[in-house]
Amino acid sequence: MSGVYVPKALRREVATQARHRCGYCLSAEELTGIPCDVDHITPASVGGQTIEENLWLVCSPCNQRKSDRTSASDPLTRKWVRLFNPRNDDWTEHFVWAADGLLMVGTTAIGRATVAVLQLNREMLMNARRRWIQGGWHPPKS
Ligand SMILES: [Zn+2]
Repeated sequence: MSGVYVPKALRREVATQARHRCGYCLSAEELTGIPCDVDHITPASVGGQTIEENLWLVCSPCNQRKSDRTSASDPLTRKWVRLFNPRNDDWTEHFVWAADGLLMVGTTAIGRATVAVLQLNREMLMNARRRWIQGGWHPPKS
């Protein structure tokens, strides 16, 4: 959720930790040409603090979809689960790339719910990934 002031030095620190890419779709700022927002993993609206431990980078389209959410329904089991936490969770435990990197696939309830609610295979993103794959820049190596 944007709208909460994040001091510049803290933003820089979080951007370095996140390697200048969105914690959800993994799109790199240097590929999109658009700086990421700073995401409150626990939204400020429900008491999430503006501290390093609660912040990560998120691209604007993922941020809009995440909004104040912290949980969502797993489309496979219909169970309500928390969203992926890009600071604390290991991406490889919840997602894999399919179709040479075109598709992000959730391998756990958390991964599936996060892919669904943030629409991590939205058309615009897949169009960009196609180009990035051709350029050899995607999927990210780690
Ligand atoms: Zn994103």
